[in-house]
Amino acid sequence: MRLPIRALFVAVLLLCACAHAPRNPMAHWVPSPNHETRRPVLIVIHATEQDSVRESLDTLRTANSGGPVSAHYLVGRDGAIYQLVADSLRAWHAGPGRWGTITDVNSASIGIELDNDGQAPFAPAQIAALLRLLDDLCTRLDIPRTQVVGHADFAPTRKRDPGARFPWKQLADAGFGAWPRAPLADPPAGFDPWTALRLLGYPLEQDDTPGRVATVRAFHRHFRGDEAGVLDAEDARILYALTRLP
Ligand SMILES: [Zn+2]
Repeated sequence: MRLPIRALFVAVLLLCACAHAPRNPMAHWVPSPNHETRRPVLIVIHATEQDSVRESLDTLRTANSGGPVSAHYLVGRDGAIYQLVADSLRAWHAGPGRWGTITDVNSASIGIELDNDGQAPFAPAQIAALLRLLDDLCTRLDIPRTQVVGHADFAPTRKRDPGARFPWKQLADAGFGAWPRAPLADPPAGFDPWTALRLLGYPLEQDDTPGRVATVRAFHRHFRGDEAGVLDAEDARILYALTRLP
């Protein structure tokens, strides 16, 4: 009789542990019912840089040679929306990178992959579906509508998606992401565009010339639709306007 009772006791202990794991063993566990799942504060847009939804659904659900990856959502060119990871869980779409003070982008974000080979224009039905999804996510999860960025924005030395053809202006017209208000004005004397880039969230290491060029390319893909790696006067006007957004 003793063994089954002990086994039952262990089983109950394991069940309790699962229900509340992970606990910190250095603290007294005094559980409170007043909690919920953590909420993301950022949305990251990706392009799959693959050839089909079928291929990407496979990539996002398997081990892959370079390691497992995933995203919360995949949007097809026809506007079909697939969900692969629950909003409350941490998907593996961001990799290393930093956006402002967010140093673990996967923990803080929802990842949306768009079926796009990285070269072709984004299909109108796909962008329409993305706008519906952004509205749903920002409303339901209370994510600020300005907090929508591209993968390359926070990982400029490693990534270029969603690419220079992604219609950020169209997103901004629908109320998502940051966009400068027209008409653009010349910044005052002493305005530092590098400080402005950093304030927006772009990662910039001191004295890292290749990293700075990559960051400028990411900024240009996002706000100019090109991949130039040098800041010019128009960039200064755009950055000045962006830093003056409420
Ligand atoms: Zn990506």
